[in-house]
Amino acid sequence: MFGLKCDIALDLPEKYYLQHDYEKGVARWCPGCGDHAVLAAIQKLCKEYQLPPEKTVFVSGIGCSSRFPHYMNTYGFHGLHGRAFPVASGVRFRRPDLNIFVVTGDGDCCSIGAGAWVHAIRYNMKMVALLFDNGIYGLTKKQTSPTSRMGTVSNTHPTGSVLPPINPIQTTLGVSNVSFVAQTSDMNPAHLYATIKAGFEHPGFAFIRIMQRCPAFMQQQTDDWKTNKDQFVLLEHPKGISVDEAVADTFGLRVAHDPGALHSARELAEDTDKVYLGLFYQNKEALRYDLYGAHNLGYTYEQKEAALETELDRFAI
Ligand code: SF4
Repeated sequence: MFGLKCDIALDLPEKYYLQHDYEKGVARWCPGCGDHAVLAAIQKLCKEYQLPPEKTVFVSGIGCSSRFPHYMNTYGFHGLHGRAFPVASGVRFRRPDLNIFVVTGDGDCCSIGAGAWVHAIRYNMKMVALLFDNGIYGLTKKQTSPTSRMGTVSNTHPTGSVLPPINPIQTTLGVSNVSFVAQTSDMNPAHLYATIKAGFEHPGFAFIRIMQRCPAFMQQQTDDWKTNKDQFVLLEHPKGISVDEAVADTFGLRVAHDPGALHSARELAEDTDKVYLGLFYQNKEALRYDLYGAHNLGYTYEQKEAALETELDRFAI
């Protein structure tokens, strides 16, 4: 998988993939869990872009959402807690031909994996990073997560969490070389799909925070999102994420925001009274570390040997 070459060329007929070609098994998330909606959106994207399953890989960490690769009929790596980004970066470094998706949760990304997350943003390697943010540790049955709203009652804070949460959008926008930051919700399938699509087309590291329902342990938050319609604000701009007018009309509040304006994006991210859905920031020109790693991928055996000799000669005495 990592840079290996095979002399056998298979002459396979062209295949048109249907959505079920990307499906595998029965997703074991709770009924009503937002993860089901994201899985459906991703399978739809794979079909729309006709992504060859053997050229597509999902890398995850640990948590409810990180079961994702099991339900995709593609390559997958259900890895170590908090280490999805280093694994995905390694894959990207040597396999620029693959479509790479990272699936991570708020605990996996913003707690144990926070260091890896920050550097993945700065490396800006081409991949789509999906943060499933339900504001709770669901797999281990309700502990406070780094993004739990203040006052969240959990098994680790029975009288309510006492610290303000990490703001993943604000954090991502604060990292140097950031190139794509968007926010969406599993409760709005059209916006969710448009956002993932925009992230897939971005030439770099596309960070997408998905406000995700967890009816098992965060029913109150789910109910708030359902009943307080004005909490969600649609970000609009010709360079942003576009949805049909019928979908846009479902938002009580809509604001114009140019995704090229980093300062304004940071200001919006600071406003945690609202949940802004759309593209906060995009810079297609940000430097990509994976392009350096791909430098010698086409080398023949002789070229590799010559390059190695040149390097070793630097240490000759
Ligand atoms: Fe989804 Fe929550 Fe159930 Fe986990 S515990 S599968 S996040 S509803």
